[in-house]
Amino acid sequence: MALRKIITIGNEKLRKVSKPVTKFNARLETLLDDMVDTMRENNGAGLAAPQVGVLKRCCVVEVEDKLYRLVNPEIIASEGEQAGSEGCLSVPERLGFVKRPMMVTVKALDAKGEEIVVTGEGLCARAFCHEIDHLNGVLYVDIMDHEIFAEDLDAEDGGEQEQL
Ligand code: ZN
Repeated sequence: MALRKIITIGNEKLRKVSKPVTKFNARLETLLDDMVDTMRENNGAGLAAPQVGVLKRCCVVEVEDKLYRLVNPEIIASEGEQAGSEGCLSVPERLGFVKRPMMVTVKALDAKGEEIVVTGEGLCARAFCHEIDHLNGVLYVDIMDHEIFAEDLDAEDGGEQEQL
């Protein structure tokens, strides 16, 4: 298990557009494994490579015990809308109110370079959108409706806040 350091807002690497992955080798597998370890260690539901300072188009998402490793992911379909709180491991101690599609289908490659198509709903759809935004240098604070402050959180919303 290897943990990587998560960079935070203000670091200019978070604002760069990441490059497509072209080599499917042990180095990529290690990066993805380290990202899974780092996401879990920080109780995250998703993590994109730029958040660990690597400007490659890949991310990991884990929602309800389903783990996704997505390389060169692209949203190919989306449906519906959800509006709710969203947090980011790279934007510590903050939350925003962000609208996202309710359902998202993503085409990507796996760690071996094989094409996969996955569909996520709810938090999983939110995570796919959030992580793909990271690959384009976009943070949720750029697109949020408004900031959510701790005192505004009601009981049902104030419990677990997933960080992406
Ligand atoms: Zn994030």
